[in-house]
Amino acid sequence: MAPKPTISFTRFAVPRKGAAILLSSEDAGLGEAGKACDPGEILPRAFSVAGFKGKSGTAVDVLAPAGSPLDRIVVVGTGKSEALSGYGWTRLGGSIAGQFRKAGDLTVVVDAGGTRPTPADVAELAAGILLRAYNFDTYKTRRDEASGEPAAAPRVTIQCANPTATKRAFAQAEAIAESVWLARDLVNEPANILGPVEVAAKARALEALGVKVEILTEKEMRRLGMGALLGVAQGSVRPPRLVVMQWNGGKPKDRPVAFVGKGVTFDSGGISIKPAGGMEDMKGDMGGAAAVIGLMHALAARGARANVVGVVGCVENMVDGNAQRPGDIVTSMSGQTIEVINTDAEGRLVLADALWYCNERFQPRIMVDLATLTGAVIVSLGAHHAGLFSNSDELADRLLKASSDTQERLWRLPLGPEYDKLIDTKNADMKNTGGRNGGAITGAQFLQRFVKDTPWAHLDIAGTAMGAPASEINQSWGSGFGVRLLDRLVRDHYES
Ligand code: MN
Ligand code: ZN
Repeated sequence: MAPKPTISFTRFAVPRKGAAILLSSEDAGLGEAGKACDPGEILPRAFSVAGFKGKSGTAVDVLAPAGSPLDRIVVVGTGKSEALSGYGWTRLGGSIAGQFRKAGDLTVVVDAGGTRPTPADVAELAAGILLRAYNFDTYKTRRDEASGEPAAAPRVTIQCANPTATKRAFAQAEAIAESVWLARDLVNEPANILGPVEVAAKARALEALGVKVEILTEKEMRRLGMGALLGVAQGSVRPPRLVVMQWNGGKPKDRPVAFVGKGVTFDSGGISIKPAGGMEDMKGDMGGAAAVIGLMHALAARGARANVVGVVGCVENMVDGNAQRPGDIVTSMSGQTIEVINTDAEGRLVLADALWYCNERFQPRIMVDLATLTGAVIVSLGAHHAGLFSNSDELADRLLKASSDTQERLWRLPLGPEYDKLIDTKNADMKNTGGRNGGAITGAQFLQRFVKDTPWAHLDIAGTAMGAPASEINQSWGSGFGVRLLDRLVRDHYES
């Protein structure tokens, strides 16, 4: 893993070493603290040569003049000074970090003409620096000089108006950013290293933060009647695990909110085997589980005042003499029977039992599942939005608001009886595919049969959890999608 930058906060003062990063807004230019860093007034000339106007996403990089204790001065445009939102600050932090892959001393002077942002804004900016700094290089035994990967962590000093309050706000933002790092790592790790048992062990490590963790083995799942999940697992030599995490930070009598993740640590497709091209990406078919584990980490690390349950179903879907066949009929924990038409539609079989178990045991106020469930959702929405399905307009609206605030984007797709009919079959209570058309929707209809009337939402993150386009705050294949979104949901609606 890339070295994590160290970040500290101080009052405004002219930096004495390394690189200075100044902010300049489109309407008001450099702030006073920024101007003080340029006593020779070289910047106005640099701006005019480069045509720099402070637009968002632009920057000017100049060598510090002879006699200056600094090496470089970089001015980053913020756009209009009033236009920056919470996420705008995160993204700005990401683009600042993007300018500095090498180790060294960086001083960021957070003062853009007219805008001296709040402590929470500056904390968001600092979190953006952390999010961008992530790089999955665990298995690189030689450093690639040409790529500019840092050998050591940059030391970042952020100068702002209220360092004490900013430091406090950053403790929360840092907890979330570190949780996104955790989720990205889980997705990026290959399947030979991270199978169901190993994912469960990563979840177990959250006990250090005060999360209660239970791990159900195959025997216990068999006793509970989880025939849908176990049918997927039976083709792998690696045994399945169901992980139950509880963070009890709320009032003892408050019913919990619950998050359920698909944790298929490798999906070969099973007997309905996938084509070879791109199959390596199926190590990331546990992106839902990674998001739930990352979320539980975030809630515990920042001491969320809420009762939250996280359940992840971990299996490996393999081809084997004992693998389940197309046409097999399995009985889920709910008692409902399922005809397995396609063994590659395995995620919903895992979630069927995980959702039912979670709902029966905890009677949660709401239940949100995350799964890299269908290729169809990528056909619909590409890599820029995850599919949102819900039986509750209130929950869907809350998720959409959190989505707009964090820019982990969701787009709501329909559910309905016409779609539900498509998974009926004469041989059992339902079948596990509804055909090509509306494939993301029939996947969601299938899951809805396992949640009763509990307000529930399903996030199909097949396009956003892995291989999503690089952004200012993420350059990693595994994006950690869902951690920031669901932390925001909990913070806005379910904390006491
Ligand atoms: Mn599959
Ligand atoms: Zn899958």
